[in-house]
Amino acid sequence: MADKVLVVTGGSRGIGAATCLLAAKRGYQLVVNYTANAAAADAVCAEIRAMGGEAVAVKGDVANPADVDAIFAAADGLGTLVGLVNNAGIVDKAARLDEMSIERLERMMRVNVIGSILCAQAAIRRMSTRHGGKGGGIVNLSSAASKLGSPAYYVDYAASKGAIDTLTVGLALELAGEGIRVNGVRPGIIDTEIHASGGEPDRVAKMSPNLPLGRAGTAEEVAEAVLWLLSDAASYTTGTTLAVTGGRAIQP
Ligand code: NAP
Repeated sequence: MADKVLVVTGGSRGIGAATCLLAAKRGYQLVVNYTANAAAADAVCAEIRAMGGEAVAVKGDVANPADVDAIFAAADGLGTLVGLVNNAGIVDKAARLDEMSIERLERMMRVNVIGSILCAQAAIRRMSTRHGGKGGGIVNLSSAASKLGSPAYYVDYAASKGAIDTLTVGLALELAGEGIRVNGVRPGIIDTEIHASGGEPDRVAKMSPNLPLGRAGTAEEVAEAVLWLLSDAASYTTGTTLAVTGGRAIQP
């Protein structure tokens, strides 16, 4: 059985896919979760196997408790869970708050907030020394939006990521004596397909010249931060959210 299993939600594309590939290079065995794009998840798994690693793709919506059970059952099938990357996340079209439907708001909070909490619960039940586990690490994907608030853009998304920041602090303290470190990564403008899904495929090109480092970040640059926080090199780091924003939104 594998001894270093990592669940990455939304591991099929973007930051999640880059995290899976880097994690495999660092010796983790991967559960590559996705919700719709099986071909992308299979491609990530194939690349991991081609480098001699182990990976399984698991379809599931993190906002659905039964799907979360299936994701973690797949992890149990692989071996010992040592980490969770709460990466699955969604945006929606730019809008003012007073224009947002209840359906949009519920979906935003269910996927970005409740989904991360459900996955954290499943990981804690396996990794916490309180439950007979051997400890581990959780990394939650926040966003620069949690600091900027994203006015007239997507305040709902920004608020969901603010909740993630608070989850990271509270959970880190709740689990500090149980062998689990909990940290966050706060990406800025990263070149992935999420911007197209929010109706703005040209967002990266539009924003890049105005960013402090003069360009958008890559998914691989975010993955490096995630893997550092999971690693023993970060053994005294818990409850922090690391900005990977190229200098954007770094004021406390
Ligand atoms: P992305 O390219 O849009 O990829 C999203 C991933 O999440 C895909 O693998 C998708 O699966 C999966 N997913 C979506 N909804 C899901 C659900 N309900 N259950 C399970 N998986 C789901 O996104 P990204 O840009 O890599 O973003 C990853 C994380 O970083 C998100 O939490 C996002 O908020 C955060 N972030 C991104 C940026 C940025 O500029 N890119 C900035 C700040 C924060 P399918 O392939 O099956 O659709």
